[in-house]
Amino acid sequence: MLYGFDIGGTKIAFSVFDQQLVCVFSEQQPTPHEYTDFMVLINDWVKQADLRFSCRGTVGIGFPGAVNPCDRRLHCANVPAIEGRHLADDLTITLGRDVSLENDANCFLLSECHGGSGDGFATVLGITLGTGVGAAIFVNGAIHRGYNAFAGEIGHCPIPATMLLKYPKLPQFSCGCGRKMCLETYISGTGLANLYKHYAGMPLKSPDILDKYRAGDKTAINVVDIYLDLFAAGLGCVILVLDPDVIILGGGLSNFEALVPALTARLPEHLLKGMRLPTLRSATFGAAGGVRGAALLNYP
Ligand SMILES: [Zn+2]
Repeated sequence: MLYGFDIGGTKIAFSVFDQQLVCVFSEQQPTPHEYTDFMVLINDWVKQADLRFSCRGTVGIGFPGAVNPCDRRLHCANVPAIEGRHLADDLTITLGRDVSLENDANCFLLSECHGGSGDGFATVLGITLGTGVGAAIFVNGAIHRGYNAFAGEIGHCPIPATMLLKYPKLPQFSCGCGRKMCLETYISGTGLANLYKHYAGMPLKSPDILDKYRAGDKTAINVVDIYLDLFAAGLGCVILVLDPDVIILGGGLSNFEALVPALTARLPEHLLKGMRLPTLRSATFGAAGGVRGAALLNYP
């Protein structure tokens, strides 16, 4: 059996897959605040699954951060319980088996490239649009991690200056990374809400903004228009670097039905003449992609 964990800031998802990648067990728990509680939770889940399925399952874990290639500690600011910890080493001792760790956006894309929207393509860019922006790169059958294991951190690229020419009064949002005007602060679900609050003068969650947009509300249409312009401009820069065959959009905002056609219409002006547009697609596995990708870390 293949065990997959998807660790988030508020909850942890655990699933068990058989060798045909069919999910046979799934459960969620709140993310513990303390490292010892975290270790107990993972250990209990694994040991109970071993008993339930009479096996010794493989363990793959996706988390919102990166493993430092030099000292193997985790960078994982959104999950304080495991920040700075030697998680793989500690779990290997506790569980008595090898443990695979991977960035959660990479797990999302790994899943999409095995039987999902990215299957069979040479170069795939995956983007998750939720509270933040996650992204991952898949090239010739493998995840591309980069020198620092930070490849795909497109959310922290600043928005292109051409957007300031088009929108001179664009707000300068502060990012959690300590800088201003990162793409994530405009194009994530939180980013859309940031833009709406700035232009409409009142707070509204992104699903409610999209409902207003669908209902023909002028302010919502204006804000979504700016959102799409910023997204296309930022994505254009990424396409010029990577030239992917396909781009897969996941996360809550990827359910916005106008996203793919609107980006497809806006992208050519940000690319070079003669370039073919990559295919934009929604994710196949939805919210379950992360935990499936984590299990796939040990798929033969
Ligand atoms: Zn940033």
